[in-house]
Amino acid sequence: MEDEEAVPVGGAEEPAAARARRVEVPIHVGRIVVHSLELPLVHHFRTAYGTISRKRTILVRLEDVGGIVGWAEAPTAELPTYGPDTHDSTWYALTELLAPRLIGRSFAGPAELVASWAALRGQHPAKHALECAAWSVASQKVGTSLSQLWSGVRRAVPVGESFGIAESVAALLDQIERRMAEGYCRIKVKIEPGWDVEVLRAVAERFPGVPLSADGNCGYAGSGPWAELDRLGLLMIEQPLAADALCELADVQGSISTAICLDESASSPGITEAALRLGCGQIVNIKPARLGGILASMEVHDICQARSLPVWCGGMLETGVGRGFNLALASLPNFSLPADMSPARIFYAEDLVEPTFDIRPDGTVAVPEQPGCGFHVQEDRIDQYTAVRWSGG
Ligand SMILES: [Mg+2]
Repeated sequence: MEDEEAVPVGGAEEPAAARARRVEVPIHVGRIVVHSLELPLVHHFRTAYGTISRKRTILVRLEDVGGIVGWAEAPTAELPTYGPDTHDSTWYALTELLAPRLIGRSFAGPAELVASWAALRGQHPAKHALECAAWSVASQKVGTSLSQLWSGVRRAVPVGESFGIAESVAALLDQIERRMAEGYCRIKVKIEPGWDVEVLRAVAERFPGVPLSADGNCGYAGSGPWAELDRLGLLMIEQPLAADALCELADVQGSISTAICLDESASSPGITEAALRLGCGQIVNIKPARLGGILASMEVHDICQARSLPVWCGGMLETGVGRGFNLALASLPNFSLPADMSPARIFYAEDLVEPTFDIRPDGTVAVPEQPGCGFHVQEDRIDQYTAVRWSGG
């Protein structure tokens, strides 16, 4: 169904969220199926939170009464270490709280669907997945890509790579060496107390000229080697302190010239704006599942753009299904720093979309041009890896 009127015509300066909220493509929710999958990882991935070797994730299939199907993903973690949500809490939120209240209802567009759960707090990955499924249906009805529907401005997204804490500095350098040959534009190294200044110095010396970031994942408490890190010429120091340590983050940012990037702290548009006003950071890592959806992510994008602060799109080990939405989002104007968008093949033995996406020699990933999540979803593979299924409608 072609309906180009559905894409609002707004001024170039109109904030992305306001524009997206005006997209009116009716969504008539027929059936929703929620899949809990278990996907083997290619390599173990170690962060300040521990080591994982396989990953559960949740996929949502929203079928419009007219027959159009939107797939989306709620990337989940086993433990509430990164954020307050877990795989099981997200499963509960989807199957008990959110999906049942959508089935059989009609909405003027994705924004109205999102407004329907305004009274329910939290449950961000679950809300993100259902919102994305609605956007997938809307983009297929309109016949345009998500990037076009959201007024994206770039056709390719520059990507960096993130490196977990390794067995040794030599092992880390070897890993980076192998991966940098693929063209990545930025190196990000996970740090923790005792694995920081010397490690970063070794990486900077081995790969001069490549933008280098550090990610503390909230792993420091109070004091840290801020002055030494500040002398390394890093692109940013991501979330060195706890998510709610806003006063302390502002103190650290006030004492160094390197930009602090908010990740775990940026849990909602309002909290992100408060953190930026306090001076907690100068860059924001936007992870749509952490923020509770695309519209909330666009609001953060707009808040930062109004303050002339750049954003970039982070990753949560999504499969190609989830990455499709992230790539479209990262095509918006203020996503001016490289994204964590390594191909799904780096993590998963098999992706859930075919063909899967890959990094190009110039260090970018193409923004999908086809409607829906942007890729051809392999329903048989999803069934193959599904451990538990819920359906309603
Ligand atoms: Mg981070």
